[in-house]
Amino acid sequence: MNFLITGAAGFLGAALANRLAREGHQVRGLDDLSTGDPQALSPDVLFTRGDVNDRPKLWTLLQDVDCVYHLAARVSVPESILYPREYNAVNVGGTVSLMEAMRDVGVRRVVFISSGAVYGDQGAQPLKETASPNPRSPYAVSKLAAEYYVRTIGDLWGIETLSLRVFNAYGPGQHLPASHPPVIANFLRQAVRGGTLVVHGEGNQTRDYVFVDDVVRAMLAAATAPGINHAVINVGSGVETNVRELVRLVLEVANSKAEVIYNPRTDPGVSRMCADLSLAREKLGYQPRYSLAEGLRLTLERDARFRREVPTRPLKSP
Ligand code: NAD
Repeated sequence: MNFLITGAAGFLGAALANRLAREGHQVRGLDDLSTGDPQALSPDVLFTRGDVNDRPKLWTLLQDVDCVYHLAARVSVPESILYPREYNAVNVGGTVSLMEAMRDVGVRRVVFISSGAVYGDQGAQPLKETASPNPRSPYAVSKLAAEYYVRTIGDLWGIETLSLRVFNAYGPGQHLPASHPPVIANFLRQAVRGGTLVVHGEGNQTRDYVFVDDVVRAMLAAATAPGINHAVINVGSGVETNVRELVRLVLEVANSKAEVIYNPRTDPGVSRMCADLSLAREKLGYQPRYSLAEGLRLTLERDARFRREVPTRPLKSP
């Protein structure tokens, strides 16, 4: 099949693009490289640098494409609180531009990568797709608005649409910015370097951490699954883990004695998050394969940034 992936040079985009290319598909990737790294892409992926709001570029890239994966986005919850306009322009505006261009060219299917963040604080766990969304950040609002745009424009123009609400994905190659880094990549780096792990709040907040290879399998199934038009489907591990337990696992897997500090003054965010996977099982045949401990071990193994410096023996003096 012919695919276009927006946000292809990012963490999830590159993992997906490389997997599709390995399976012999034709893969085009678009990314403005605001955070992405084109070196992460296999040479078999045809990469174009560009903005997801650039419709003329999209018209060219969409020729003969069977399915689009839309991942291009700004992805930090705390950053979105500081720059909501930018999050709206890229995450919502970019989605509308893409849907318009798909309409113009006549592409048949789009898989939109949404987020578990759209649920916000809910009473009952695990979270079913039927729960009423309760977004708590501009990032979460932008993902929810984009879901609605994808579905509505798709409906109006006969484009099949599917939104995957991915929970907290982690794994090798995840972007590690200086401010507001994602929790697992940050903890692993600190553990390996013997730095400090700083936990927001008391560490009782829970998340559903899902390994990148599991997310990629769900995304692959989404391209061809029958009877999924309009569907919104959770993709997670189905396991609820609190941050204290995450810290314990990170230190154990990294064999680290790094210091841990709890900062009660910083906002721990949404209190509980865990995905109900019944719909993903039914519609995509999805079953997560990796436990958090296994995923952490593989991340350490595969990502050179987390390799410990091996002390070299001093050279003998002549
Ligand atoms: P990422 O930052 O690594 O990937 C996003 C990519 O989009 C980057 O490569 C960036 O350069 C690119 N991009 C940003 N603005 C762009 C623009 N205007 N035009 C073209 N490209 C642009 O983040 P990720 O974790 O790989 O996330 C990928 C997608 O998955 C995002 O849509 C994100 O919201 C969604 N998601 C991620 C997670 C997670 O835990 N990683 C969870 C839920 C949803």
